[in-house]
Amino acid sequence: MNCAIGIDLGGTKTAIGLVNENGEIISREMFATEGPEKTIEEMGKSIDRMIEKVGIIEGIGIGSPGPIDSKKGIVVCPPNLPEWRNIPLADILSHKYKVKVMLNNDANVAALGEWLFGAGRGVQNFIYITVSTGIGGGAVLNGRFYEGENANALEVGHATIDYKGPRCGCGNYGCFEAMASGTALARFAREAIKERRDSILAGYERIRAEDVFEAAKMGDALAVKLVDDEALYLGVGLTNVINSFNPGMIAIGGGVSKAWDMYYEKMMQVIKERALPTNYEVVQVVRAKLGEDIGIVGAASLVYNLSME
Ligand SMILES: [Zn+2]
Repeated sequence: MNCAIGIDLGGTKTAIGLVNENGEIISREMFATEGPEKTIEEMGKSIDRMIEKVGIIEGIGIGSPGPIDSKKGIVVCPPNLPEWRNIPLADILSHKYKVKVMLNNDANVAALGEWLFGAGRGVQNFIYITVSTGIGGGAVLNGRFYEGENANALEVGHATIDYKGPRCGCGNYGCFEAMASGTALARFAREAIKERRDSILAGYERIRAEDVFEAAKMGDALAVKLVDDEALYLGVGLTNVINSFNPGMIAIGGGVSKAWDMYYEKMMQVIKERALPTNYEVVQVVRAKLGEDIGIVGAASLVYNLSME
């Protein structure tokens, strides 16, 4: 069976996996991400061990935090990889291993992986959105991976949903990410407990998004309200995506999707009320299927997508 290597280059960890053509991870390794020299050396050791297992690989796919240059395979200057500046990672690896090496940003590769091997199989117009510390996304449109002019399509996390809303990391105000990410939910909770000392959350030293979901499950009134608002913001943000792209499916991944049952119904109700009926009618909004494996499988799917074209 054909195998490809998927590399999930993360801000703190790098995960590498040998992935077969069914999207199954046969072997995986993980190490701390450091400066480019040390990390690329570790990548090489892992790749050597994996190639030893199967003899030959189809290629190597890499998912990296943005900004990247997907055409040249360069990690440009991700804010959470401060030592990585204009590193031609794809060239370095393709020179060493004499195989095709593809690089794209982590949200785009996750979308491709989820489309090829997860919830989006067979869907012609598919959007993947990750809701965790930030909000990002990727798309397959008309059955083809869509990355935009310079691999920055589907930056839906920075679509404005409240123009008077809180300042976002990007400099804009009231971005989808500043309103509905896990980070935003935790921030809203920390602000709210200043007035609501009766909430369970007021006893937490540092509130995380999962604490808010946990407290809501226990019936804490403030937490229930915060989760309700989260469902509203998600619904509004997704409505923009549904009206813009007219997708057949949106799959949601990332940490906040773990609490799916807590907000799904309300979020769908908001979408139903706000999206154009023509667009609402044809879209399924589902939880992503690949879970924690999405980084590795998504990266490897860059190689499989290439072989399909
Ligand atoms: Zn923003």
